Amino acid sequence: MASLKLKHIYKVYGGGVRAVNDFNLDIKDKSFVVLVGPSGCGKSTTLRMVAGLETITSGQLYIDNTLVNDVESKNRDIAMVFQSYALYPHMTVYQNMGFSLKLRHVKSAIIKEKVLKAAEVLEISDLLDRKPKELSGGQRQRVALGRAIVREPNVFLLDEPLSNLDAKLRVQMRTEITKLHEKLQTTFIYVTHDQTEAMTMGDTIVVMNKGYIQQADAPVTLFEDPVNLFVATFLGSPQMNIIESELVVKGNKIGAKLEGLENNTIWFRDETAKQIRNSGIDLEKKYLFGVRPDHIRIGQTGVDAHVEAVEQLGDETIIYTNIEGHKGHVIMKSPLVTHVRVNDDIKLDIDMQRVYLFDKDSEHSLIGMPSYNKLPCKVEDGKIILGTSEIPFDEEYGSHLLSGAYADNRFLAIKPEHIEFEETESNRSIKVKVDFIEERTNYNIIFAQIDGVIPYLIFKANKDRKIKVGDELVVYLPLDHIAIYDENDDSYFCREVVFPNVADATVKTKDGKTTISINRGQKLVYEDLGVADGKYQFVLKQDKCEPVITRKVAKTIPEEVLTKVNNGEFLSVSCYDEEPQHKMNTIFVKIKGFEEYVTLNIKNQFSVYKMSSFKMKVPADGFELIPVAEETEEIKEDPETAKPEQ
Ligand code: ADP
Repeated sequence: MASLKLKHIYKVYGGGVRAVNDFNLDIKDKSFVVLVGPSGCGKSTTLRMVAGLETITSGQLYIDNTLVNDVESKNRDIAMVFQSYALYPHMTVYQNMGFSLKLRHVKSAIIKEKVLKAAEVLEISDLLDRKPKELSGGQRQRVALGRAIVREPNVFLLDEPLSNLDAKLRVQMRTEITKLHEKLQTTFIYVTHDQTEAMTMGDTIVVMNKGYIQQADAPVTLFEDPVNLFVATFLGSPQMNIIESELVVKGNKIGAKLEGLENNTIWFRDETAKQIRNSGIDLEKKYLFGVRPDHIRIGQTGVDAHVEAVEQLGDETIIYTNIEGHKGHVIMKSPLVTHVRVNDDIKLDIDMQRVYLFDKDSEHSLIGMPSYNKLPCKVEDGKIILGTSEIPFDEEYGSHLLSGAYADNRFLAIKPEHIEFEETESNRSIKVKVDFIEERTNYNIIFAQIDGVIPYLIFKANKDRKIKVGDELVVYLPLDHIAIYDENDDSYFCREVVFPNVADATVKTKDGKTTISINRGQKLVYEDLGVADGKYQFVLKQDKCEPVITRKVAKTIPEEVLTKVNNGEFLSVSCYDEEPQHKMNTIFVKIKGFEEYVTLNIKNQFSVYKMSSFKMKVPADGFELIPVAEETEEIKEDPETAKPEQ
């Protein structure tokens, strides 16, 4: 038995390399999870943090609901199999497999029983007396697996275990590892950069890029509903065709003009057109149209194409074509042996149920399942207003909102998979009406309308829910999965609790200069602020400060970004955490004299985390001064009341 929970895990290596960012994943007992992505995307780092071979910079790792961040590797009940088999050359297979048990002083009769059993599972019983050098690569890998099996761990971690094997053996070992997972009935976490390996082995695939999870789901879902361009093009072979397009609108219909050419226009289905229209995207912009080679046929009608090359692969044919205006090939895959020849002119008939459209900047998918729903909303004290509906929130939720969240033109963001059907204490109900439904292999996608809101609320529903078009439903939005964004995709919902940024201060004006002395801390000096001398509460606004960037802080930053440290308008701060947003960066800093940590939202020019301690420019409109009633009365009364009654 082992389930794992990774919550907001970050890894920053010495030197500031951010290898893993905000990694969140629930791993069910007995599942087979594959982490996949290009080299350097943080897969191994994540696995090594689970193994306890690498410290976790921030976030929580639970194994079976126990927090294990500080539990030593050897006490985590896991076994790890590496790419290099790391067998002891002077020991036999039997000794290699039994060695870890021997170290733990397990009785030799028990070691024997376990090694023999593992050898049987792996079909290496006849190799037990051999030394590693007398084994093939595949056999060595099996011994490495055997060494992990004998320990009967709750979690198996495998880091590219097949990459030293030749192609044929790799395919064979893939099946063997899948079978082994079934036999052992334990949790497997497997790392690979090979998308085919990932798609054929895992029940959950986690696609990573640049330290971030891009999408985590069943293989078929990743294939059918990639949330962004990266996932769409990383999975699938040959890779998805991506063609730049303009959109054309004719009445209710929307089409894609591939490479902007009139004769390359294809029309979306009515449902797709509705989704595009309601999403509120700019119809004048250029987008990236996507279609997999698997979903193009040769038709009587379609986009004109010229055949450049034909690959007959026995059971299928890959045809490389050119279309007018497009630099690369448009590739199609036919399950049949076709009679198409090089230089033929054909028509590409595209299955419009299976096409994609991506934003060129954000690279988010705009058709089908989105990475998240983004609905225009208003945020007021204690509630989010969505059309005619209200979503009340509690103090706990409010403590994670930056002050900029409270505005009329905000967006509520929630992932489709977080929308629930049952009420709980921490979710909020909302009424919706189902406009249309798209079927997928594992679920249906529901496109529903909230009264007074134009974009659809899009969510997944199990097929056995029997939701129909026109149904009026109540669904639930869990508060801890609702983020508040602005039009720039900057979030005002923080993982960390947001502090009120308050310090006690004394104000004194002399010779045309106002000095604000922060309690036990630093001084800020401004041209006369016209404020009476006295005691104040100094409230630092969250979104007015700028970090002072000097040569000392950032050697490679261009001259124009450097700030001149002048007069007295700055505070020294030290940053202990940051949440990178889109154009903004929320930082949590320590400033002497403030009651608690200070939360600031600053322009995201570069990672502040690395700077750690720096100066912060505080403009004259960057704070409020709230007068504090003089405590003199109390002091005056003190001696009186202190007098013993006679
Ligand atoms: P992957 O397994 O996906 O190839 P890794 O997790 O090995 O990626 O690496 C993620 C990033 O962290 C890379 O930029 C890599 O250079 C960096 N990195 C890995 N290990 C260390 C280390 N010990 N010290 C500093 N940087 C590291």
